[in-house]
Amino acid sequence: KLHNQVLELKGNIRVFCRVRPTLEAESEPAKIDFPGQDDEAKDIKLYCSEKATLSGAETIKEHPYTFDKVFNPSADNNLIFEEISQLVQSALDGYNVCIFAYGQTGSGKTFTMTSKDGMIPQAVEQIFRTSAQLTEKGWTYTMEGSFVEVYNENLNDLLGKDTDIDKKKIEIRHDKGRTTLTECTSITLSGPDMMEEVMRRASNNRMVAATKANERSSRSHSVFILKLSGHNNVTGEKCEGTLNLVDLAGSERLSHSQATGDRLKETQNINKSLSALGDVISALGGGKEVKHIPYRNSKLTFLLQNSLGGNSKTLMFVMVSPLLAHMNETLTSLKFAKKVS
Ligand code: ADP
Ligand code: MG
Repeated sequence: KLHNQVLELKGNIRVFCRVRPTLEAESEPAKIDFPGQDDEAKDIKLYCSEKATLSGAETIKEHPYTFDKVFNPSADNNLIFEEISQLVQSALDGYNVCIFAYGQTGSGKTFTMTSKDGMIPQAVEQIFRTSAQLTEKGWTYTMEGSFVEVYNENLNDLLGKDTDIDKKKIEIRHDKGRTTLTECTSITLSGPDMMEEVMRRASNNRMVAATKANERSSRSHSVFILKLSGHNNVTGEKCEGTLNLVDLAGSERLSHSQATGDRLKETQNINKSLSALGDVISALGGGKEVKHIPYRNSKLTFLLQNSLGGNSKTLMFVMVSPLLAHMNETLTSLKFAKKVS
């Protein structure tokens, strides 16, 4: 039935870890090992120096983690994309796919997802390439792209008028497994070259939003949604899939005691939505008979409800900064990622 190769998945949830390189101006990388560095690399080990409380002596504590895949700092976006291209293409088979980038601010989420050779532009190119091959078998697809931001539990249209940011109320409707957003721009993509304009508009709108709230892009989630509708004019078959690519808000835990006012509200909303996402994914991956999945606990999980669980595939990138100064946040991120995997 499926026209793409069927993915071999243990379950429908996978976690990939990516460690970004140390940048020029940065100093003091942490000690990180990548045991078994090859195509099948799955392990990462962090070393933390800790003071033994009684003697005051420094000891090195090892923190080994295993994921479905681990990318060391020399991996570029093309290599990363190779590893997800099958997953991306399964949207053409009618799967709902979610790909998340999770990690603290500065860990490489936006570089991985949104940059010129990032996962969003490459995914769209791949979808068009494969759909062109499928025309031989009678398939024609229409692709519709939307780009939204979830900020303070509100949805903003990143492809709409910049003056509408924070003003227009977008509602989420779920109907028979399909999600629609009221009053949200969706652009019919006729080819991958249209993505340049889509990305430019979205980043423009994010910039306008950023002047309203400092560092907003790291305090909000951005979601690129590609809806694919396929029709086979030979067999009459129909097929609908969705690809969601999500650049999550920075996961760094700002303590509530340090934040006040708007900042406190932002912080509470980020903490709430990231933990809601973690809860939903780990409930789905539980393997046991799933009773209740808490989609309604945050706007983000509610938005993605039809693409999380059921006929869907989920990939979480846990992004890691190589710096010693970020070690504690890194360990927190890896723990979160382990919990959902
Ligand atoms: P985040 O979106 O998680 O806050 P960014 O994607 O903005 O982080 O990355 C922080 C900085 O590190 C940026 O200057 C970015 O260009 C750089 N960077 C991130 N990942 C890589 C990488 N794999 N290779 C080179 N530079 C990177
Ligand atoms: Mg970013």
